[in-house]
Amino acid sequence: MPSVRDAADIIFNLVPTLNSQQDTEIVDLWAANGRILATPVNSPLDFPHWDNSAMDGYAVRYEDVQNSNAEQPVSLEVVAEIPAGYQPKFTLQPGQAARIFTGAVMPSGGDTVVMQEKTRPENNRVFILTTPKPGEFVRLKAAYYQAGTQLLPANTQLNAAEIAILAASQCPQVKVYRRPRVAIFSTGDELVTPDQPLQPGQIVDSNQYALAALVKQSGAEPILLGIVKDNPTALEETITKAIVNADIVISSGGVSVGDYDYVDQILASLGAKIHIRSVEMRPGKPLTVATFSTPQAPIYFGLPGNPAAVLVTFWRFVQPVIRKLGGLAKGWEPVFVKVRSHDELRSDGKRETYIWGSLHLIDGLYEFHKAGGSHSSGNLINLAQTNALAVLPPGETFISSGKDVLVLQLPI
Ligand code: AMP
Ligand code: MG
Repeated sequence: MPSVRDAADIIFNLVPTLNSQQDTEIVDLWAANGRILATPVNSPLDFPHWDNSAMDGYAVRYEDVQNSNAEQPVSLEVVAEIPAGYQPKFTLQPGQAARIFTGAVMPSGGDTVVMQEKTRPENNRVFILTTPKPGEFVRLKAAYYQAGTQLLPANTQLNAAEIAILAASQCPQVKVYRRPRVAIFSTGDELVTPDQPLQPGQIVDSNQYALAALVKQSGAEPILLGIVKDNPTALEETITKAIVNADIVISSGGVSVGDYDYVDQILASLGAKIHIRSVEMRPGKPLTVATFSTPQAPIYFGLPGNPAAVLVTFWRFVQPVIRKLGGLAKGWEPVFVKVRSHDELRSDGKRETYIWGSLHLIDGLYEFHKAGGSHSSGNLINLAQTNALAVLPPGETFISSGKDVLVLQLPI
């Protein structure tokens, strides 16, 4: 049975990449939030587009004011006013200044801006009360970005800053990777939908709801295939259907060693290569990972049925796969941070143990608080508000309150 780390290495190396030509779509910039760029973007514009003022003040010729100060101020003739948005059509001559505002285009001949607080205007003249530095408060054309060079690399996630950059470079539509398609189904004779009356022995299929939410949150498109009975024919039909359409297939339940756990045997009979059957972790030991060599080449995750195990194994293994497959070059890996534990944490030391809880800011430092209630993998209720999982590696049985612990930080 592989360790969690070995399983993660195996799984993350199985991830195919979307094709940067075929697996793409053009989206409007308004709809681009969270999407991943399929091609690099260049802009034909320089940033700034032209030399402009960084201050409200006066555009001057440095050589006119290089010896100016409050005691012996140089006085210049104010020949024009340049608000933002206008192209000045004159050249500053020796002894002249132009009133200028932040963002306005520098007049030709002007090379320096004196902020208005360091000036004293009088009629049509201005006294310069300071010696500016040459070029001070002028943002030079192309100082931030040169036209034609790479603005954003491919495989970048588009968030607010990137979207603003694309808007500023007049790029109203972008080519992004299509969302990965993730087929989801639940297995178990005991399962009913939330709207069905509950008969004795039955439970509600909560896993499919959790997985649909997690898949969407990871930037992918869920394909819901419903509840499948613990019946080899029904399972085979569903898996056959799932692998035609999806990049990733996730089932929950039926991968344990119980008499009704058929998933592995059906995967094998359908020609899948099974890479993992179980992982040394708690919760989540029964975990099947397989690949198909069909044209779509999907990755199959057979997650355990226990609701807590579904969430934990998704966060640890499936979410990074969706983000990597979806085109992210970096930042798809799970994020572990070391924080102080508020509570005592225990494990039997045999398997890597994931304990759910939440991070709280205490005096500016994050602290992990273990969720109250039962930490049984069958208990879903105390997972509410989980935003971190404390990780106790094999061999580590106890972390006392106040000591550091590694936590897997969860996207919320
Ligand atoms: P299994 O892995 O199929 O043996 O299921 C383990 C446990 O998880 C059983 O108690 C199931 O009733 C429960 N379980 C399985 N599937 C689901 C589901 N879709 N939603 C909620 N609980 C489930
Ligand atoms: Mg079952």
